[in-house]
Amino acid sequence: MSNKCAYCDRPGTPTKDHVWPECFLERFGREVVARFSVKARRVHGADYVVNDVCPICNSGPLSLLDTAFCKLYDDFFHELHDLESTVVFRYDFDSLARSLLRIAFNSARAAGSETAQLVGTRKYVIGAEPRPAQLAVFVELVAPTFLDDGSGGKKKVFPQMYRSAVTKLLTPNGGRIMTRIVAVNSFYFHLVLPREPMTLEDFEEAAGELATLTKGVVRLLPGTSEVTLKTSPQEGLRSFLPHLTAFQGQYAKFFEEQKRKRKRKKGK
Ligand SMILES: [Zn+2]
Repeated sequence: MSNKCAYCDRPGTPTKDHVWPECFLERFGREVVARFSVKARRVHGADYVVNDVCPICNSGPLSLLDTAFCKLYDDFFHELHDLESTVVFRYDFDSLARSLLRIAFNSARAAGSETAQLVGTRKYVIGAEPRPAQLAVFVELVAPTFLDDGSGGKKKVFPQMYRSAVTKLLTPNGGRIMTRIVAVNSFYFHLVLPREPMTLEDFEEAAGELATLTKGVVRLLPGTSEVTLKTSPQEGLRSFLPHLTAFQGQYAKFFEEQKRKRKRKKGK
């Protein structure tokens, strides 16, 4: 089989690339996470992989991004944050932005969601093109969620999950831009790209609306390498709850099956 690489367009035998870096999956633990496939409309536990990346990109620039992302996980993302946390987050802007765009692009391809805007950033991801002028990256340290514990009290639940998803910005210019989140535990990254040709000024205005609407998000600017984050008013799991509720039956079934599998393993 000979195909074009999704990143560099080189023809050749495609190789497998994990949507989320493999070193990250090993750290986070593969077993406890259910994933949702837009295309298949079902929840499944398999690792998301794409099968359209050439060996040169895979073992070269993309492998460097794996290392950079896992270093950030070890230094920052692994820790769950409570209300009123303060974190001095240190990063290299381009490796972070490229890592996030790569996860977004890979998951969009794997899940069958829209890739049009992300395609324009793939050469930046592999370091073959300069950073796109119209790209905004925001970060947010989300709060734990307080759920009813069933006996009149509240139970604190930390956002212990990872997620890459399309979001919808309901602001005057929200329809002109594409927004996605890439979230790991308490760290929520918002990516913004233009959905149509526009001036830099218009793009900045539209991207600015995200910061106005989402209290506590901080824009990461190219050339910066440090930012102080405080827990935002948004509860990390809240944004996921409508989705969880809509597909509750499927998630319940998935976790039931996992439990059975674990029991079978133990029984052996
Ligand atoms: Zn390639």
